[in-house]
Amino acid sequence: MFLNTHFPKAEKYWYMGKLLDWSEAGCHPMMHALHYGTSVFEGIRAYSTARGPAIFRLPEHVDRLLLSAGAAKMKSPYNKDEITDFIKLTVRENKLESCYIRPLLFFSYGNLGLVPKACPVELAISAWEWGAYLGENAARGINTFIVPWRRVHHTQFNMSAKLGGVYVQSTICGLEAREEGFDEAVFLNFEGRVAEGPGQNIYIVKDGTLVTNDRKESALEGITRTSLLEIARDLGFKTVVGPITKEDLFGADEAFFCGTASEVIPIISVTDGSDPAGPRKKNTVGEGLPGPIALRMVGAYKEAVTGRSPRYEKWLTYVNG
Ligand code: PMP
Repeated sequence: MFLNTHFPKAEKYWYMGKLLDWSEAGCHPMMHALHYGTSVFEGIRAYSTARGPAIFRLPEHVDRLLLSAGAAKMKSPYNKDEITDFIKLTVRENKLESCYIRPLLFFSYGNLGLVPKACPVELAISAWEWGAYLGENAARGINTFIVPWRRVHHTQFNMSAKLGGVYVQSTICGLEAREEGFDEAVFLNFEGRVAEGPGQNIYIVKDGTLVTNDRKESALEGITRTSLLEIARDLGFKTVVGPITKEDLFGADEAFFCGTASEVIPIISVTDGSDPAGPRKKNTVGEGLPGPIALRMVGAYKEAVTGRSPRYEKWLTYVNG
């Protein structure tokens, strides 16, 4: 029996053309993706707006799902328009106002060799109410830990794709940071510069300028990151896209994580655990409190996703529209 304890308000999930009860499962242990992480996925949010639930930047998310499928040499059984409709249907059928949406394409049941020659590619879409990713307290700022493991490098895999198997590193390092008593992990890249969080991009603020990195730094160029770049420029802030060194992060006036699940989360400290043999030093970011620009971005993002900024209506897909 699959309870929806950790998936509030989830009643049904979409699976290959059918809406199944949440507690109903049709997964066989020999499904290829379960063994080798041969799945690709998206993380999408819908927000309650004056015109009903609206999905934030849905076309961009579906494009990325299909890009990820291509990177994983998977042929999607559905095209962009079909997937878009199925996602809207899943939100509607669960009567969700605001939710997290998880489409998953995966090599299913067939053979178990590494090459999934007899495995069909299947699509499942789930949606449920998911509050603050790192908990409500995260709004007061989080303490982060630079893990000793370097982020998978962009020369090893297309890091713009969201491949299930690659997220093993995010899971392990997220656990590691929590074991050490921190709220979240930060990855450095092979070059020793800041890459990203396990499921978030990073921004720093220095002298009023917002700085974030890009794919050349082995970070996934997130949709939230790109939206915030536009919002920041519209607010009149100077923005720079380029490498962020560890020293830049330690000496920043402000820093924050961003991502679909995380939204915008101020970072108030960074402890350097990148050298397992070296000393660990806790670096307070700015005053050790969420900074004014980070808070401004939290607010502006919230307004954009909930349809309160006419300028960013272009990013919303109304579920009942
Ligand atoms: N980096 C990684 C590794 C992620 O998993 C995510 C979440 N998709 C992000 C960054 C942020 O991306 P987005 O804003 O598109 O959710």
